[in-house]
Amino acid sequence: MVTSGTIDLLKEELPVEQESLVVNGDVKTGLVLVDIVNGFCTVGAGNLAPTQPNNQISEMVAESVRVARIFCEKKWPVFAFIDSHHPDVPEPPYPPHCIAGTQEAELVPGRYSTPVSRMGELQWLENEPCATIRRKGCIDGFIGSVEKDGSNVFMDWVKTNQIKVILVVGICTDICVLDFACSALSARNRGFLAPLEDLVIYSRACATYDVPVHVARAVKNVIAHPQDLMHHIGLYVAKGRGAKVISEVSFCPQQDQCA
Ligand SMILES: [Zn+2]
Repeated sequence: MVTSGTIDLLKEELPVEQESLVVNGDVKTGLVLVDIVNGFCTVGAGNLAPTQPNNQISEMVAESVRVARIFCEKKWPVFAFIDSHHPDVPEPPYPPHCIAGTQEAELVPGRYSTPVSRMGELQWLENEPCATIRRKGCIDGFIGSVEKDGSNVFMDWVKTNQIKVILVVGICTDICVLDFACSALSARNRGFLAPLEDLVIYSRACATYDVPVHVARAVKNVIAHPQDLMHHIGLYVAKGRGAKVISEVSFCPQQDQCA
């Protein structure tokens, strides 16, 4: 198995320096939530859901919900991706998951969950005027935002709201969060996302799934995916593509009132 010593060594070889971000009304900032759905976050909810309570995922949900509430209270723009697949369209290499119309393809928590605290709830977002919800049938939300007529819902959201900074949270750090970040950064660099300047990934509000090496070895056709390491590698690759990575975010109304 991957020991914490091995992970520490890898983190030394692949360092990800993390900054902090102060969000205020002066620089137009939008929040992007990636796939905070039952199918990836709620214990036992499906093929790609955690099989037991998982700290990294719980912290990601709680922190994402906290930030989403602040954005909506301030009437700042929020964009939420929901992984949602047609039952007849597989997504290799993954097993069936987040089938449209099921609880898996809904924002947390599921109706079958035991009573949860407000910290774990995101379904209220569906009724928020500040939020744009986008159901996507692919890993990369940027591609999943393309409409039949070739327009792009995410690009339109950036333009309409004149967003200069996007703050990205959600799951999985090394899969859907990473692919979306890479595509958005390429689009920004090509001038398709003006006036966007920065894409910021909030590490504590991101998570990935856990398949330890010893578990993968015991099951056929399962690829190891040690959680802490893959989360770190996701951040590392995103940073290499030009994302900013932060470990803290704070809010204040105006620059001169920041604590
Ligand atoms: Zn999917």
